[in-house]
Amino acid sequence: MIDRFRAWLDASPTSFHAAAEAARLLAAAGYSALDEAGPPEALAPGSRRFILRAGSILAFRVGARNPAEAGFRMVAAHTDSPNLRIKPRPHLREQGYVRLGVEPYGGVIHATWMDRDLGIAGRVYVRDGDRQRAVLVDLRRPLCRIPTLAIHLNRGVNDDGMKLNPQKDLPALLAQSDDKTAEPLRDLLAAAIGCEPAAILAWDLSLYDLTPATVSGLNGEFLHSARLDNLGSCHAGLEALLAADAGPLPDTTAVLALFDHEEIGSTSERGAQSAWLEHVLDRIVRDAAGDPAGGLSRALAQSWLVSADMAHAVHPAFADKHDPEHMPKLNAGPVIKQHTSQRYGTEAEGAAFFLRLCEAAGVPSQWFVNRSDLACGSTVGPLVAARLAVRTVDVGNPMLSMHSAREMCGTRDQPHMAAAMAKFFGGMR
Ligand SMILES: [Zn+2]
Repeated sequence: MIDRFRAWLDASPTSFHAAAEAARLLAAAGYSALDEAGPPEALAPGSRRFILRAGSILAFRVGARNPAEAGFRMVAAHTDSPNLRIKPRPHLREQGYVRLGVEPYGGVIHATWMDRDLGIAGRVYVRDGDRQRAVLVDLRRPLCRIPTLAIHLNRGVNDDGMKLNPQKDLPALLAQSDDKTAEPLRDLLAAAIGCEPAAILAWDLSLYDLTPATVSGLNGEFLHSARLDNLGSCHAGLEALLAADAGPLPDTTAVLALFDHEEIGSTSERGAQSAWLEHVLDRIVRDAAGDPAGGLSRALAQSWLVSADMAHAVHPAFADKHDPEHMPKLNAGPVIKQHTSQRYGTEAEGAAFFLRLCEAAGVPSQWFVNRSDLACGSTVGPLVAARLAVRTVDVGNPMLSMHSAREMCGTRDQPHMAAAMAKFFGGMR
């Protein structure tokens, strides 16, 4: 599984690539695309479908009974990660250099992007006759770098920290050129796509670290990669959904919802706060065999959401940042995340259920509760819980360096999480 996990991480430099890669893996396993604008289709028990929407994807396998009779088993995670987005008019020309202006997306730790070999990836819209079309682009070679300032010119850097202004300090060096009119990024994209530079209309592009995912540690216990938050949970959900195909078809309908835009608040046409999942669930209830009255609310009243997002492992140098009895460790199993103000959607009922899922899968589990004197992060769980009025438990695998350009997690945790989720999709009550 770790080889598949590394391949998934490397194939997914942006949320658009992650969703497309998920679609490819699902299609290879027998899932077929569903046209959400198309007319109703009969969904027989065992039907396996997915809907791809840019950087988000929903996949489902219809259970043996209509969801109104047996409910949904949903796993939600997010495809996006903090990064540096390239502006629409990015070329900055100073001192004979061309830099690309960027805008931080989500909670970027700026300093972790310095002095790295950076590629460029994302989605580009090009003119196509009297229409437009999207092209996924991945310029996977060292193109950009954001150089640090020498310590001789910044004597306080180790005592004061590396302070970086995103407008002034983060534009990425792309070229050395005195040409005042050239647009080298546009030319690069046109060459990659095979179109005229003028045919490029707009883009959603970001920089990404080219270093591939790597297994490390004395005994191979660590994994280093960009975007573990939250491609780790996405991959565990995918593995679990596909593994569930090996077992008998349960009564419950399995749903995997991988949302874009979590790192910027989830409020968008395809984010976790949107009506998208609700619309698709309603359609499944109506198109699945039986079509009962009042189906969606009946289905949701007996459904569960497992919201999976990475968790804070205790850092050996900063153990005082954790509550002493809630210190998740790498390779010690999935973490149940609870917060009394519902920054995480967990309450005792969901925690008890997830503990039993881990037991049934034969994997360890751990708890995370924030220190009572620190503000707590959040994720898609409470948003979907509120939108759908569905019982929710928030979980995630432990990691270090969250939101760094290069994060780390434990190699044994990934199969543990996938095994617990597979029990969930398998219909355990
Ligand atoms: Zn996250």
